[in-house]
Amino acid sequence: MFIATLTLAEMLLLDGRCSDKVQEQVDRAKEARAIGERHGLEDGLALFVRDALAEARSAGRLVFQRKPVTRCAYTGRTGEWIRPAQGRARFPKDPVQQLFSAIEVKRAFVVVQHHASIGIDADVFPRVLPALSAELQGVQAEIPEAILGAPSPWRYSDRVKARCCGWTGAALLTEVRRDPHWFGLTCPGCGGKHRSMGPVNFDRVIGEHDVVAVSRLEAPAYPASTEVRPALPGLPLAG
Ligand SMILES: [Zn+2]
Repeated sequence: MFIATLTLAEMLLLDGRCSDKVQEQVDRAKEARAIGERHGLEDGLALFVRDALAEARSAGRLVFQRKPVTRCAYTGRTGEWIRPAQGRARFPKDPVQQLFSAIEVKRAFVVVQHHASIGIDADVFPRVLPALSAELQGVQAEIPEAILGAPSPWRYSDRVKARCCGWTGAALLTEVRRDPHWFGLTCPGCGGKHRSMGPVNFDRVIGEHDVVAVSRLEAPAYPASTEVRPALPGLPLAG
């Protein structure tokens, strides 16, 4: 077997003539090429836009984080190796790799130090931003305003399953579907009132998420309750 690093143009030569697993990478290259042609971007920068777009679609959200890295996978930039000043030590110090700033867009649970998973050299980020922003318009995902250029019309939400009736959906919807007399959570499925979002009332659906339109969160999902609360028994007037 062979292990090689192929350029985008070389990947395209394999189109339709390789295993399914390799074809996945070929398709990735084809999407990047199309983005590059639409926006006049070099291959590496177009591949970053493609990967960020795919992440937004599959994960439902992106982040905008500055991160110190030793290497940028999309531009090939690597931090310079330098030997620290001698100081007072008798032996020369080991060379260290200098860090530079990258913009990371993938939200990660496990953060690898000095490595960006879908991140690009911060110096070239301004060049990819117009293409990234344009490609993300209309994508149903929560995108930081710094990337989209406007507040995102979508909110990422965990998906939960209600224990009361089995309703499954966005956790955010349980918070907004409330009436003026209830400040806890309301199950959108049966209207059941719950005090908290815990395993007693709702179970997290692991590995799944929902994306909810902000407009849906702002308007009450069903008419506010018209139920009139019984008045508290009056205290006897002091005689
Ligand atoms: Zn319910």
